[in-house]
Amino acid sequence: MHYLKRTWAEISLDNLRLNVENYKKYLGEKTQLLCVVKANCYGHCDDAVVPYLENELGIKWFAVSNVCEAIKLRQDGIKGEILILGYTPFDEAEKLSDYNIIQACTEYDYAVKLSQHSNGKTIRLHVAIDTGMTRIGLRGKVCDICDDIERISSLDNIKVEGIFTHFAVADSNEPDDDKYTKDQSEMIIAVDDELKKRGISLDQCHFLNSAGGVYHYSDKSSLARLGIILYGLMPNPAKALPFKPEPVMSLKSCVSQVKTVEKDVSVSYGRTYKTSDTTKLATITCGYADGYPRALSNVGDVIINGKRAKITGRVCMDQFMCDVTDIDDVKVGDVVTLIGSDGKETITADDIADMTGTIGYEVVCGISQRVPRVIIKDGREIAVFG
Ligand SMILES: *Cc1c(COP(=O)(O)O)cnc(C)c1O
Repeated sequence: MHYLKRTWAEISLDNLRLNVENYKKYLGEKTQLLCVVKANCYGHCDDAVVPYLENELGIKWFAVSNVCEAIKLRQDGIKGEILILGYTPFDEAEKLSDYNIIQACTEYDYAVKLSQHSNGKTIRLHVAIDTGMTRIGLRGKVCDICDDIERISSLDNIKVEGIFTHFAVADSNEPDDDKYTKDQSEMIIAVDDELKKRGISLDQCHFLNSAGGVYHYSDKSSLARLGIILYGLMPNPAKALPFKPEPVMSLKSCVSQVKTVEKDVSVSYGRTYKTSDTTKLATITCGYADGYPRALSNVGDVIINGKRAKITGRVCMDQFMCDVTDIDDVKVGDVVTLIGSDGKETITADDIADMTGTIGYEVVCGISQRVPRVIIKDGREIAVFG
C-alpha cells in the first residue's frame, strides 16, 4: 500500500469494532446505537469508518454537523438514517428532502422558514429541546414546549419524527452535576410523556451521548448518540469507564536527521531550548500544520524504537526536534509514534490533551487533511485516504 511515509494516521477498524461491541453491552434493548460521525468522524476518516459501521457492524443511525457532511455520506452510498445535529441554512432546505436527511430543529420560527423553502417536499425533523445545555432548542415549561412542537408539526411539508436533548455534564464526577444530568433527562422524558398524552407519539426521543450511555443510561432514550467512545477516547479521562476504550487513531511520523550537538546549543525558533550537555537530537517530520499541537513545544514527548524522547524547543509548522541521547540506533527513516503505542510505551490523544490544556476530542479533530489516513483491518493495511 503506497502513501507518503512522512506523517500518517493509522485508523484501526478492529479497535472501532471493539468499542462498538463493548459500548452496546451498556444499552438496553430499547436503545439503538447512533454513531456520531461529524467532522470526518472526529478526524478519523469518514470514507472508511462510516461504510464499515453500516455494512459490517449493522449501524442504522448516523449523525453529522451539517448538510455537506450528510450529502457526502449519501454520495458514498450510506443508506441509514442521517441526522444533522447543527444548523442548515433555509436555502438548503430542499436538499434535506432530496437526500432523505433528518434536520435538527431549533425553534418554531426556524421550522417555518424550512417549510417556506421546502418547495413542496417533506422535511423530516427532530426537534431539539434545551434542557440545560443552553445551545439549541426549545426552552421553557413542558406544556409550552409541547405547544411549540404541535405548531411545528402542523406546518406544511414538515414532519416531526423525534425530539432530542444534549447533556452538559454527563461525564462529570461531581454529585451536583449528576443531579443536573438527571434533571435534564427528566425534563425531556416529561416532554415526551406530555406529547403522548396529547396523542402525539414520536418515533424517537433521545438524549444519551457517549458519557450518558455509560454513566446515566435510561431506556427512555431510543437512541444513544455515540461519539468519543466510538473512537476509543474517554469522555473524561478522570472518570473511569466500565470498559477499556481502544483508541482508533495512531499518529506516526518519521526521523529525517540525527545529529549530536555540544553543550549550550539552542534548538528551534525562539531559542527556547538550550542543550545542557552533549546531546543527540532527532528531527521529526511533523508539525502544527499536521495538527500536532505547537503547545507541545518543550513539553511533549514521542516514542522512537520503544523509548520516549522529549521534544526540544518549539514545534515548527512541519518539523520538530527531540532528544534521543538515550536511545540507541536512531536513524533516518525510523518510525516515530506521536499518538499510539510502540513496545511498552503509549501516548494517547488524551495524554496530549492533558499536556496542552484541551480535550482528546480537539486533538483528534485537529489532525489535518494533509495527513494520510491508513486504514487497518484484521491487523492489515487495507486502504489509504488523503
Ligand atoms: C457531538 C455530539 C454528540 C456526541 O458526543 P460524545 O461526547 O462525543 O459522545 C452527541 N450529541 C450531540 C448533539 C452532539 O453534538
